[in-house]
Amino acid sequence: MSQKKPKKLFNKLVVFVKPTWGAHPENVKIIYEHVIEPIIHYAAGIWSAALKYKHVTNKLLSLQRLFAIKIIQGFRTISTATSISLAQLTPLPAKILAVADIELSKLRGFSRFLPSDTPLERPSPPSNLLHPALRTGVRFSEVTDLTELDATSRSDTTEIYTDGSKHDGRVGAAFIVLQPHGSPIIKRFRLHDCCSVFQAEMLAIDGACAWAIQNKIPQTRILSDSLSGLTELTNPNSCNHFAVSIFRSVHAAWEMGLVIQFAWVKAHVGIPGNEIADSAAKTAALLHRRPDYLHTPISYIKHENSLLTKQAARELYGRCTHILGLFPDLQNLTDYLKTIKPYFAITQSLTNHGYHKSYLFRFKITENDLCPCDNQSSQTLEHLIVKCPRFASTRLSHSIAAGNLPELFEIPFIMSRPETIKTYHRHISYIIKQLKSFNSLIP
Ligand SMILES: [Zn+2]
Repeated sequence: MSQKKPKKLFNKLVVFVKPTWGAHPENVKIIYEHVIEPIIHYAAGIWSAALKYKHVTNKLLSLQRLFAIKIIQGFRTISTATSISLAQLTPLPAKILAVADIELSKLRGFSRFLPSDTPLERPSPPSNLLHPALRTGVRFSEVTDLTELDATSRSDTTEIYTDGSKHDGRVGAAFIVLQPHGSPIIKRFRLHDCCSVFQAEMLAIDGACAWAIQNKIPQTRILSDSLSGLTELTNPNSCNHFAVSIFRSVHAAWEMGLVIQFAWVKAHVGIPGNEIADSAAKTAALLHRRPDYLHTPISYIKHENSLLTKQAARELYGRCTHILGLFPDLQNLTDYLKTIKPYFAITQSLTNHGYHKSYLFRFKITENDLCPCDNQSSQTLEHLIVKCPRFASTRLSHSIAAGNLPELFEIPFIMSRPETIKTYHRHISYIIKQLKSFNSLIP
């Protein structure tokens, strides 16, 4: 891990990032996430073990704090926890552990989240792929209702509906064969609980192809409601384990003089085959037998890692002080920041680190904390927002917008109405803009 490079970049960045002018904070965040962070977690899989040392995680967090403060245009006195939470960044140590885990999973098939009874699903090795000259991918038509189904169905074609399902942590797949002459055949498969719906959908399509070949069906149409699965199959170079197997089946069928076609069928529009496949997949998920397929997808590992990084962000947020009183949990803060970005004025109002005299007095920048409006009241942010007569005009517009209700300065109330969000932020921005000259800090 090198801290020198990110620090150097930070020093270059600060030249054109100032609290009230310079690069837009949103751009600073983009630069941080897409340039700085990848430099820091480069080859994380190799050195992430160092994160067990407290001094390493602390160093990373203080490095991240430098960028976070620039993103929120905050004062340099803001704590690590508050600045990172307000900038809505993933705490670096947790992020690095996640990147390292995903990296190791891809390289060695090992992850801290991999259940002991399942291996990781890996991309097919190039030796398993069809020869490049034979790779064509598959095309699929679309069936969106019963009329289209009737118009495209042919009496000489066997239709196979496939479906996958994940419900209450159980995963199943099924296909149903509707033969022109003869009774329907239903095949069910159970997948390991870690598997995804995508895997279930692909397993069903793969199973349908194998069945058509085994039974030497001259004309087969496979109808799936999985657009993502069929789209994956349009990529002739896909290394997805199922896609490769399906390509091989389609090619083998062609060599045997059989035809397998594909169609995407819209789900839940009353197409009987799709409905039967859907309920068969659901019952397949509940089968009491060893899973027919048990490879964990990389998406599961990514998901588990993202849960852990979110947990780390919540834990860091728990170390905040002032802001925790305004928003009891990180989700409340995130919702609030969706309505307004934490720029200069807003950051001051949320962190209590700003130009108001109670803060300046605390850091011994002024001789007292008295507000010039009466030279008696302590000039806290609350005084400025709720009481100070100097800012009566913007306060009045806000209170009119809030219908003069008593909770007009409470954040949940403000957030519930778009017009109060606007007037409240105008009020705060005006206070912060005028505060320096009001306190005669500038001539
Ligand atoms: Zn005042």
